[in-house]
Amino acid sequence: MVEENLSFEDLKLSRQFLNAIDDLGYSEPSPIQKKAIPISMAGHDLFGIAQTGTGKTAAFVLPILMKLKFAQGEHARALILAPTRELVMQIEESAKALAKYTDLRIVCLYGGLGPKPQIELIQAGVDIIVSTPQRFLDIYQKGIIHTKTIKTMVLDEADKMMDMGFAGQIRSVLEIVPIKRQNMLFSATMSDKVITLTEEFLEFPEKVEIAPQASVVDTIDQQLYEVPNFKTKINLLEHLLNEPEFTRVIVFTKTRTNADNVSKFLDRRGLGPIRVIHANKGQNTRINAMSEFKEGNVRVLVSTDVTARGMDISMVSHVINFDVPIITEDYVHRIGRTGRANNAGIAITFANPLELFAIAEIEKLIQTPINRSEIPARVIIEKTPFIEAQEMLREIDNIKKREDPDFKGAFHEKKNKYSASSKTKDKKQRVKTKKSSRRK
Ligand code: AMP
Repeated sequence: MVEENLSFEDLKLSRQFLNAIDDLGYSEPSPIQKKAIPISMAGHDLFGIAQTGTGKTAAFVLPILMKLKFAQGEHARALILAPTRELVMQIEESAKALAKYTDLRIVCLYGGLGPKPQIELIQAGVDIIVSTPQRFLDIYQKGIIHTKTIKTMVLDEADKMMDMGFAGQIRSVLEIVPIKRQNMLFSATMSDKVITLTEEFLEFPEKVEIAPQASVVDTIDQQLYEVPNFKTKINLLEHLLNEPEFTRVIVFTKTRTNADNVSKFLDRRGLGPIRVIHANKGQNTRINAMSEFKEGNVRVLVSTDVTARGMDISMVSHVINFDVPIITEDYVHRIGRTGRANNAGIAITFANPLELFAIAEIEKLIQTPINRSEIPARVIIEKTPFIEAQEMLREIDNIKKREDPDFKGAFHEKKNKYSASSKTKDKKQRVKTKKSSRRK
């Protein structure tokens, strides 16, 4: 049978899973599911290159459910590691929905709250653990998790786990799980770090790739505004959000402070309802904000990258990158929030002169230039404050120096000259004060 025409029945899934899939309203397997499920069900290791939104979760969850079939013993037989608690919770939700006609026990573990309820769930008996790497290790070290029974392991969003510095924790987990096991690794991108990890983690893997590396969904209209500074970005954001077609917007910022400042500003201007989510917000606040946004009760969600991972939000009319992401690949993740599931979407990026360097990297990654838009005449272009300008110049110098070690940074030379003279002045001043105090 041609792979394209495969139905869920053709994938040889048991009736209870087909019924659950029916309840979820999936009419046919997504491309990653068509490719990955047969490989995994045949017992092979799998290296999947797929972004969120492709249906990758069910692609690794269904083969696990088929393998485990029903609750058995007390200890976990499958372990799924994911970078953030949002993603962990989302995987748990998908797995529970797919396993609803079975008695399989799925427990999710993540930090940010006391481990007691999670420990109790494990002690009650578990078949599948979904966890962030650190929380898994923490609970393991308390002697609560038995790892000998783990025969299937998944690393989801491996690229993000590497970017977030989880390589050490993952290696520690690999030391405590049985060597003989089936593995699956999913990643949106294929960086060098991910490739090294696949070499350690996977054995003779079969690779399935859904979109070419960092490909950008065709239905997304990408626009870029070159904006001189923060204040002008705020003015432009206000101007855009005054347009009624901006119905469901995610605004991405690079820092928590920017997220707070932007959301406060929009709130004051009555452009909401607005919610802000970032790592400093309590978990309940984050979950509530996301569900309100999903339900359509919130117009603008302001978020940083880390929290955005694992958000399953479709039908977003616009993604606005208030700041260009620090990690180049995050651009693709961010804009993938719009234009999902065949809905046309618009991704708008604001870039200051420093961020244009990151844009050049992004354009290399997505292999296409992003269309430049003119800042509308009605938007006031503010003067860049001295400190903001200096910070940008300093960073630009650093970038140029990295590219060319012989580059003499204009900013640094001046700065040194000024700071030398002001130091001398300071010293003179101090000497003068000493003398005058002695005289007294
Ligand atoms: P994921 O890439 O796993 O985050 O999945 C993205 C979204 O697609 C989730 O809302 C899933 O419930 C949904 N989904 C997964 N598989 C299918 C399918 N075969 N048909 C339609 N939707 C699906």
